[in-house]
Amino acid sequence: VLLGGGARHFLATRRDDGRDLFADYAAGGYAVVRTADELARSNASRLLGVFSADHMPFELDRTRQNAGGPSLATMAAHALGVLSGSERGFVLQIEAGRVDHANHKNDMAASLHDMMAADEALAVALRYVDAHPDTLLLMASDHATGGGVAYGVGTFYRNSTNALERIEAHDASFDHIVAQLRRTRTRGEIIEIVRAHTGVEVLPNQAEIVERALRDGIRASIHMAYNDQPHNSLAHVLYGGAGGRLPERLNVNFSTGQHSAGVVPVAAYGAGSSELALDMIDNTALFGYMLSALGAEHENPVMSEEAARQQVGEATGTREADSLALAYGVHS
Ligand SMILES: [Zn+2]
Repeated sequence: VLLGGGARHFLATRRDDGRDLFADYAAGGYAVVRTADELARSNASRLLGVFSADHMPFELDRTRQNAGGPSLATMAAHALGVLSGSERGFVLQIEAGRVDHANHKNDMAASLHDMMAADEALAVALRYVDAHPDTLLLMASDHATGGGVAYGVGTFYRNSTNALERIEAHDASFDHIVAQLRRTRTRGEIIEIVRAHTGVEVLPNQAEIVERALRDGIRASIHMAYNDQPHNSLAHVLYGGAGGRLPERLNVNFSTGQHSAGVVPVAAYGAGSSELALDMIDNTALFGYMLSALGAEHENPVMSEEAARQQVGEATGTREADSLALAYGVHS
């Protein structure tokens, strides 16, 4: 069961090799669905669902801009329904992949909505484990991104309801807003579009920062080692950079537009979850937990350096074979 976005990788008209991968999957016995309705009607046991040309839309755009496609929870429930019939057990990965993207863009509203979508999908998975207690559920993240915080508003940090209500007022992701900003001609239009989608009225000097980022890719601040423009500059002014009216400022801060190096939480539920120690663990340890839950054995394949050089050389036909073989970390 494969569900998600990325139709551009399947369509003959979008592929360099001209192959129609949807037709190939259908010929291989897969039902191919392209909309949430088609997914709901499908009872196929081998299933490919591709619901958008590129990435799946941000949940904020899916729910408030009719961007289309099923929710992560819907996809999770459908996949579990299909796989629960598998006699040999199954492995299902459910990924809220756009939380990372939203944080790269420093888009707090999009990030929070995608985290809530992940939470709904997690509830589906928890209910499944309760009904099928021989299942192990692992929740993990490969890393954090952005170092974002939503502070409170007012004298005390704890007074955060106002701040969250202002984020809740956003009705579109930065992607959606930026697509509209690219068609603007005046700073007045920039101010109007940002206000319409966020409720924040940026100042003329802030609109200029966004304009410069839009037109020339110029960063809002030399101190911002961010690379996602104009999104990061839009975030900079929305969250109070270069002034802004205090009563309507979004009290949000991001440390970076890149991945961050903090530890991330891991949680386990269901069969075998007590084996997971309450401790700092390496991410690779999860592989072992999954193997023991499946009752499977695995050893990483090892080949000689000479065999690796030969194989990489044949596969690439380049003189880079030596460095590639070393990059793949072969054992001699
Ligand atoms: Zn990332």
